[in-house]
Amino acid sequence: HRLRARYAPRWRSFPAPAGPPWWPARTALVVGAGLAGAAVAAGFARRGWQVTVLESAAAPCRGGSAQPLCADHLHLSPDDNPLARLTRAALSWRARDAAMPVGEPLGKLLVDADDGEAARRGAMLARLGLPASFARQLSRGEASDAAGLALPRGGLWLPACDALDPAALVRGWLGEARVALHAGSAVATLCPTDEGWSARDAAGRSIATGAIAILANAGDAVRAGSLGSFAMRRMRGQSTFVARSRIGALRAVLGGDAYAAPLGDRVLVGASFDDGESLDASREIDLANLARLARMIGGDPLDWFDGSSPASVGFRFAAIDRMPAIGALPDEPAALRDADTLLRNDRLPLPRARGLYGAFAFGSRGLLWATLAARVLPALADGDPLPLESDLLRAIDPGRFVKRMLRRRRRA
Ligand SMILES: Cc1cc2nc3c(=O)[nH]c(=O)nc-3n(C[C@H](O)[C@H](O)[C@H](O)COP(=O)(O)OP(=O)(O)OC[C@H]3O[C@@H](n4cnc5c(N)ncnc54)[C@H](O)[C@@H]3O)c2cc1C
Repeated sequence: HRLRARYAPRWRSFPAPAGPPWWPARTALVVGAGLAGAAVAAGFARRGWQVTVLESAAAPCRGGSAQPLCADHLHLSPDDNPLARLTRAALSWRARDAAMPVGEPLGKLLVDADDGEAARRGAMLARLGLPASFARQLSRGEASDAAGLALPRGGLWLPACDALDPAALVRGWLGEARVALHAGSAVATLCPTDEGWSARDAAGRSIATGAIAILANAGDAVRAGSLGSFAMRRMRGQSTFVARSRIGALRAVLGGDAYAAPLGDRVLVGASFDDGESLDASREIDLANLARLARMIGGDPLDWFDGSSPASVGFRFAAIDRMPAIGALPDEPAALRDADTLLRNDRLPLPRARGLYGAFAFGSRGLLWATLAARVLPALADGDPLPLESDLLRAIDPGRFVKRMLRRRRRA
């Protein structure tokens, strides 16, 4: 049997969805060459787009992505909330990305804080029905075996999670055919042209052009995209190295109240969330990182710390709702002009800046959100079926705060 239906509503209060976008050329400009920009550049290049990546620093991966390791920070929640679903989708794409190193992932153990947490995790697994190959509870002995350390408690084992070298990933992504990197190219403004977008330097000279442009420049994206509605917070992070000989032969990623991952003959322990302004490492923060880990797995932080290895420090940028911004950028001036109509009808689509996309506000999940953006943005630009459910796309929409801004302005 076949069903045929004709769309004939008695009235239409919102425009029909637009057809697939058309571009004068399959050329994309990407601003920023950290995890976000590099992954997105590869995502477009793999679909045949010619991609120019503009990076203000002298080399890629010098901003927040300049970390020795980035781990998969999968979120799990009893109600399988949007953050949990998004990180799960991202992890499955991350694991299959062609730039990933070959070999088994390290696996991640979320160490139980106490028996209550173990019971809650058990109930969550039973409720969600996740396969054991994705998440399973380990007893104390099993957890110690998996981690390579004697642990005080069991935990939740996530075998697909890994901790990877962001610089190697960025190199792999930028090494895709059809990606051209221009380091030392700071974008002062992005200007719309008849053919798409032109990136200009501080003197107003065009550095590069593309039919579409993607802002992947972390803390600078709000300025470059003139996004008055998008509030971002900067959080300093510092992680700490400990010699493996001092802490034990850790062989998996540990998570929970603290985080640790093996890296050669060292263990990376991290990372702080503080509001410091300086990128100089602080001994107090190193000790606080180690104290958090000691509370989770036992041990004496002062025995571990030799202060000789430089810690890694950086800034993370996150939205106030902790979700990333991945999608088409809103056209805020047009939204302000149509504020009354937009606020009257919730189903009206927001006006968008044609051909301008964003991949920023990755917070502490740069690895997962980069691979998510690399799937979502090319599908959006090509008008392909989108790889995420619409509620998840709304949760990461860079325009999600526009209506709130309009309401506030109307009240003011
Ligand atoms: C201590 C610490 C530990 C972390 N651990 C983890 C972890 O375990 N797992 C994880 O997933 N994430 C982790 N993160 C977070 C992760 O590092 C970030 O989410 C990620 O690096 C963000 O990537 P990005 O490409 O958006 O930003 P960035 O790496 O900052 O890249 C943005 C780039 O844009 C460039 N740029 C900015 N403005 C312009 C302009 N106008 N023109 C041209 N170029 C411009 C910058 O130079 C920069 O290279 C950690 C962060 C810190 C600080």
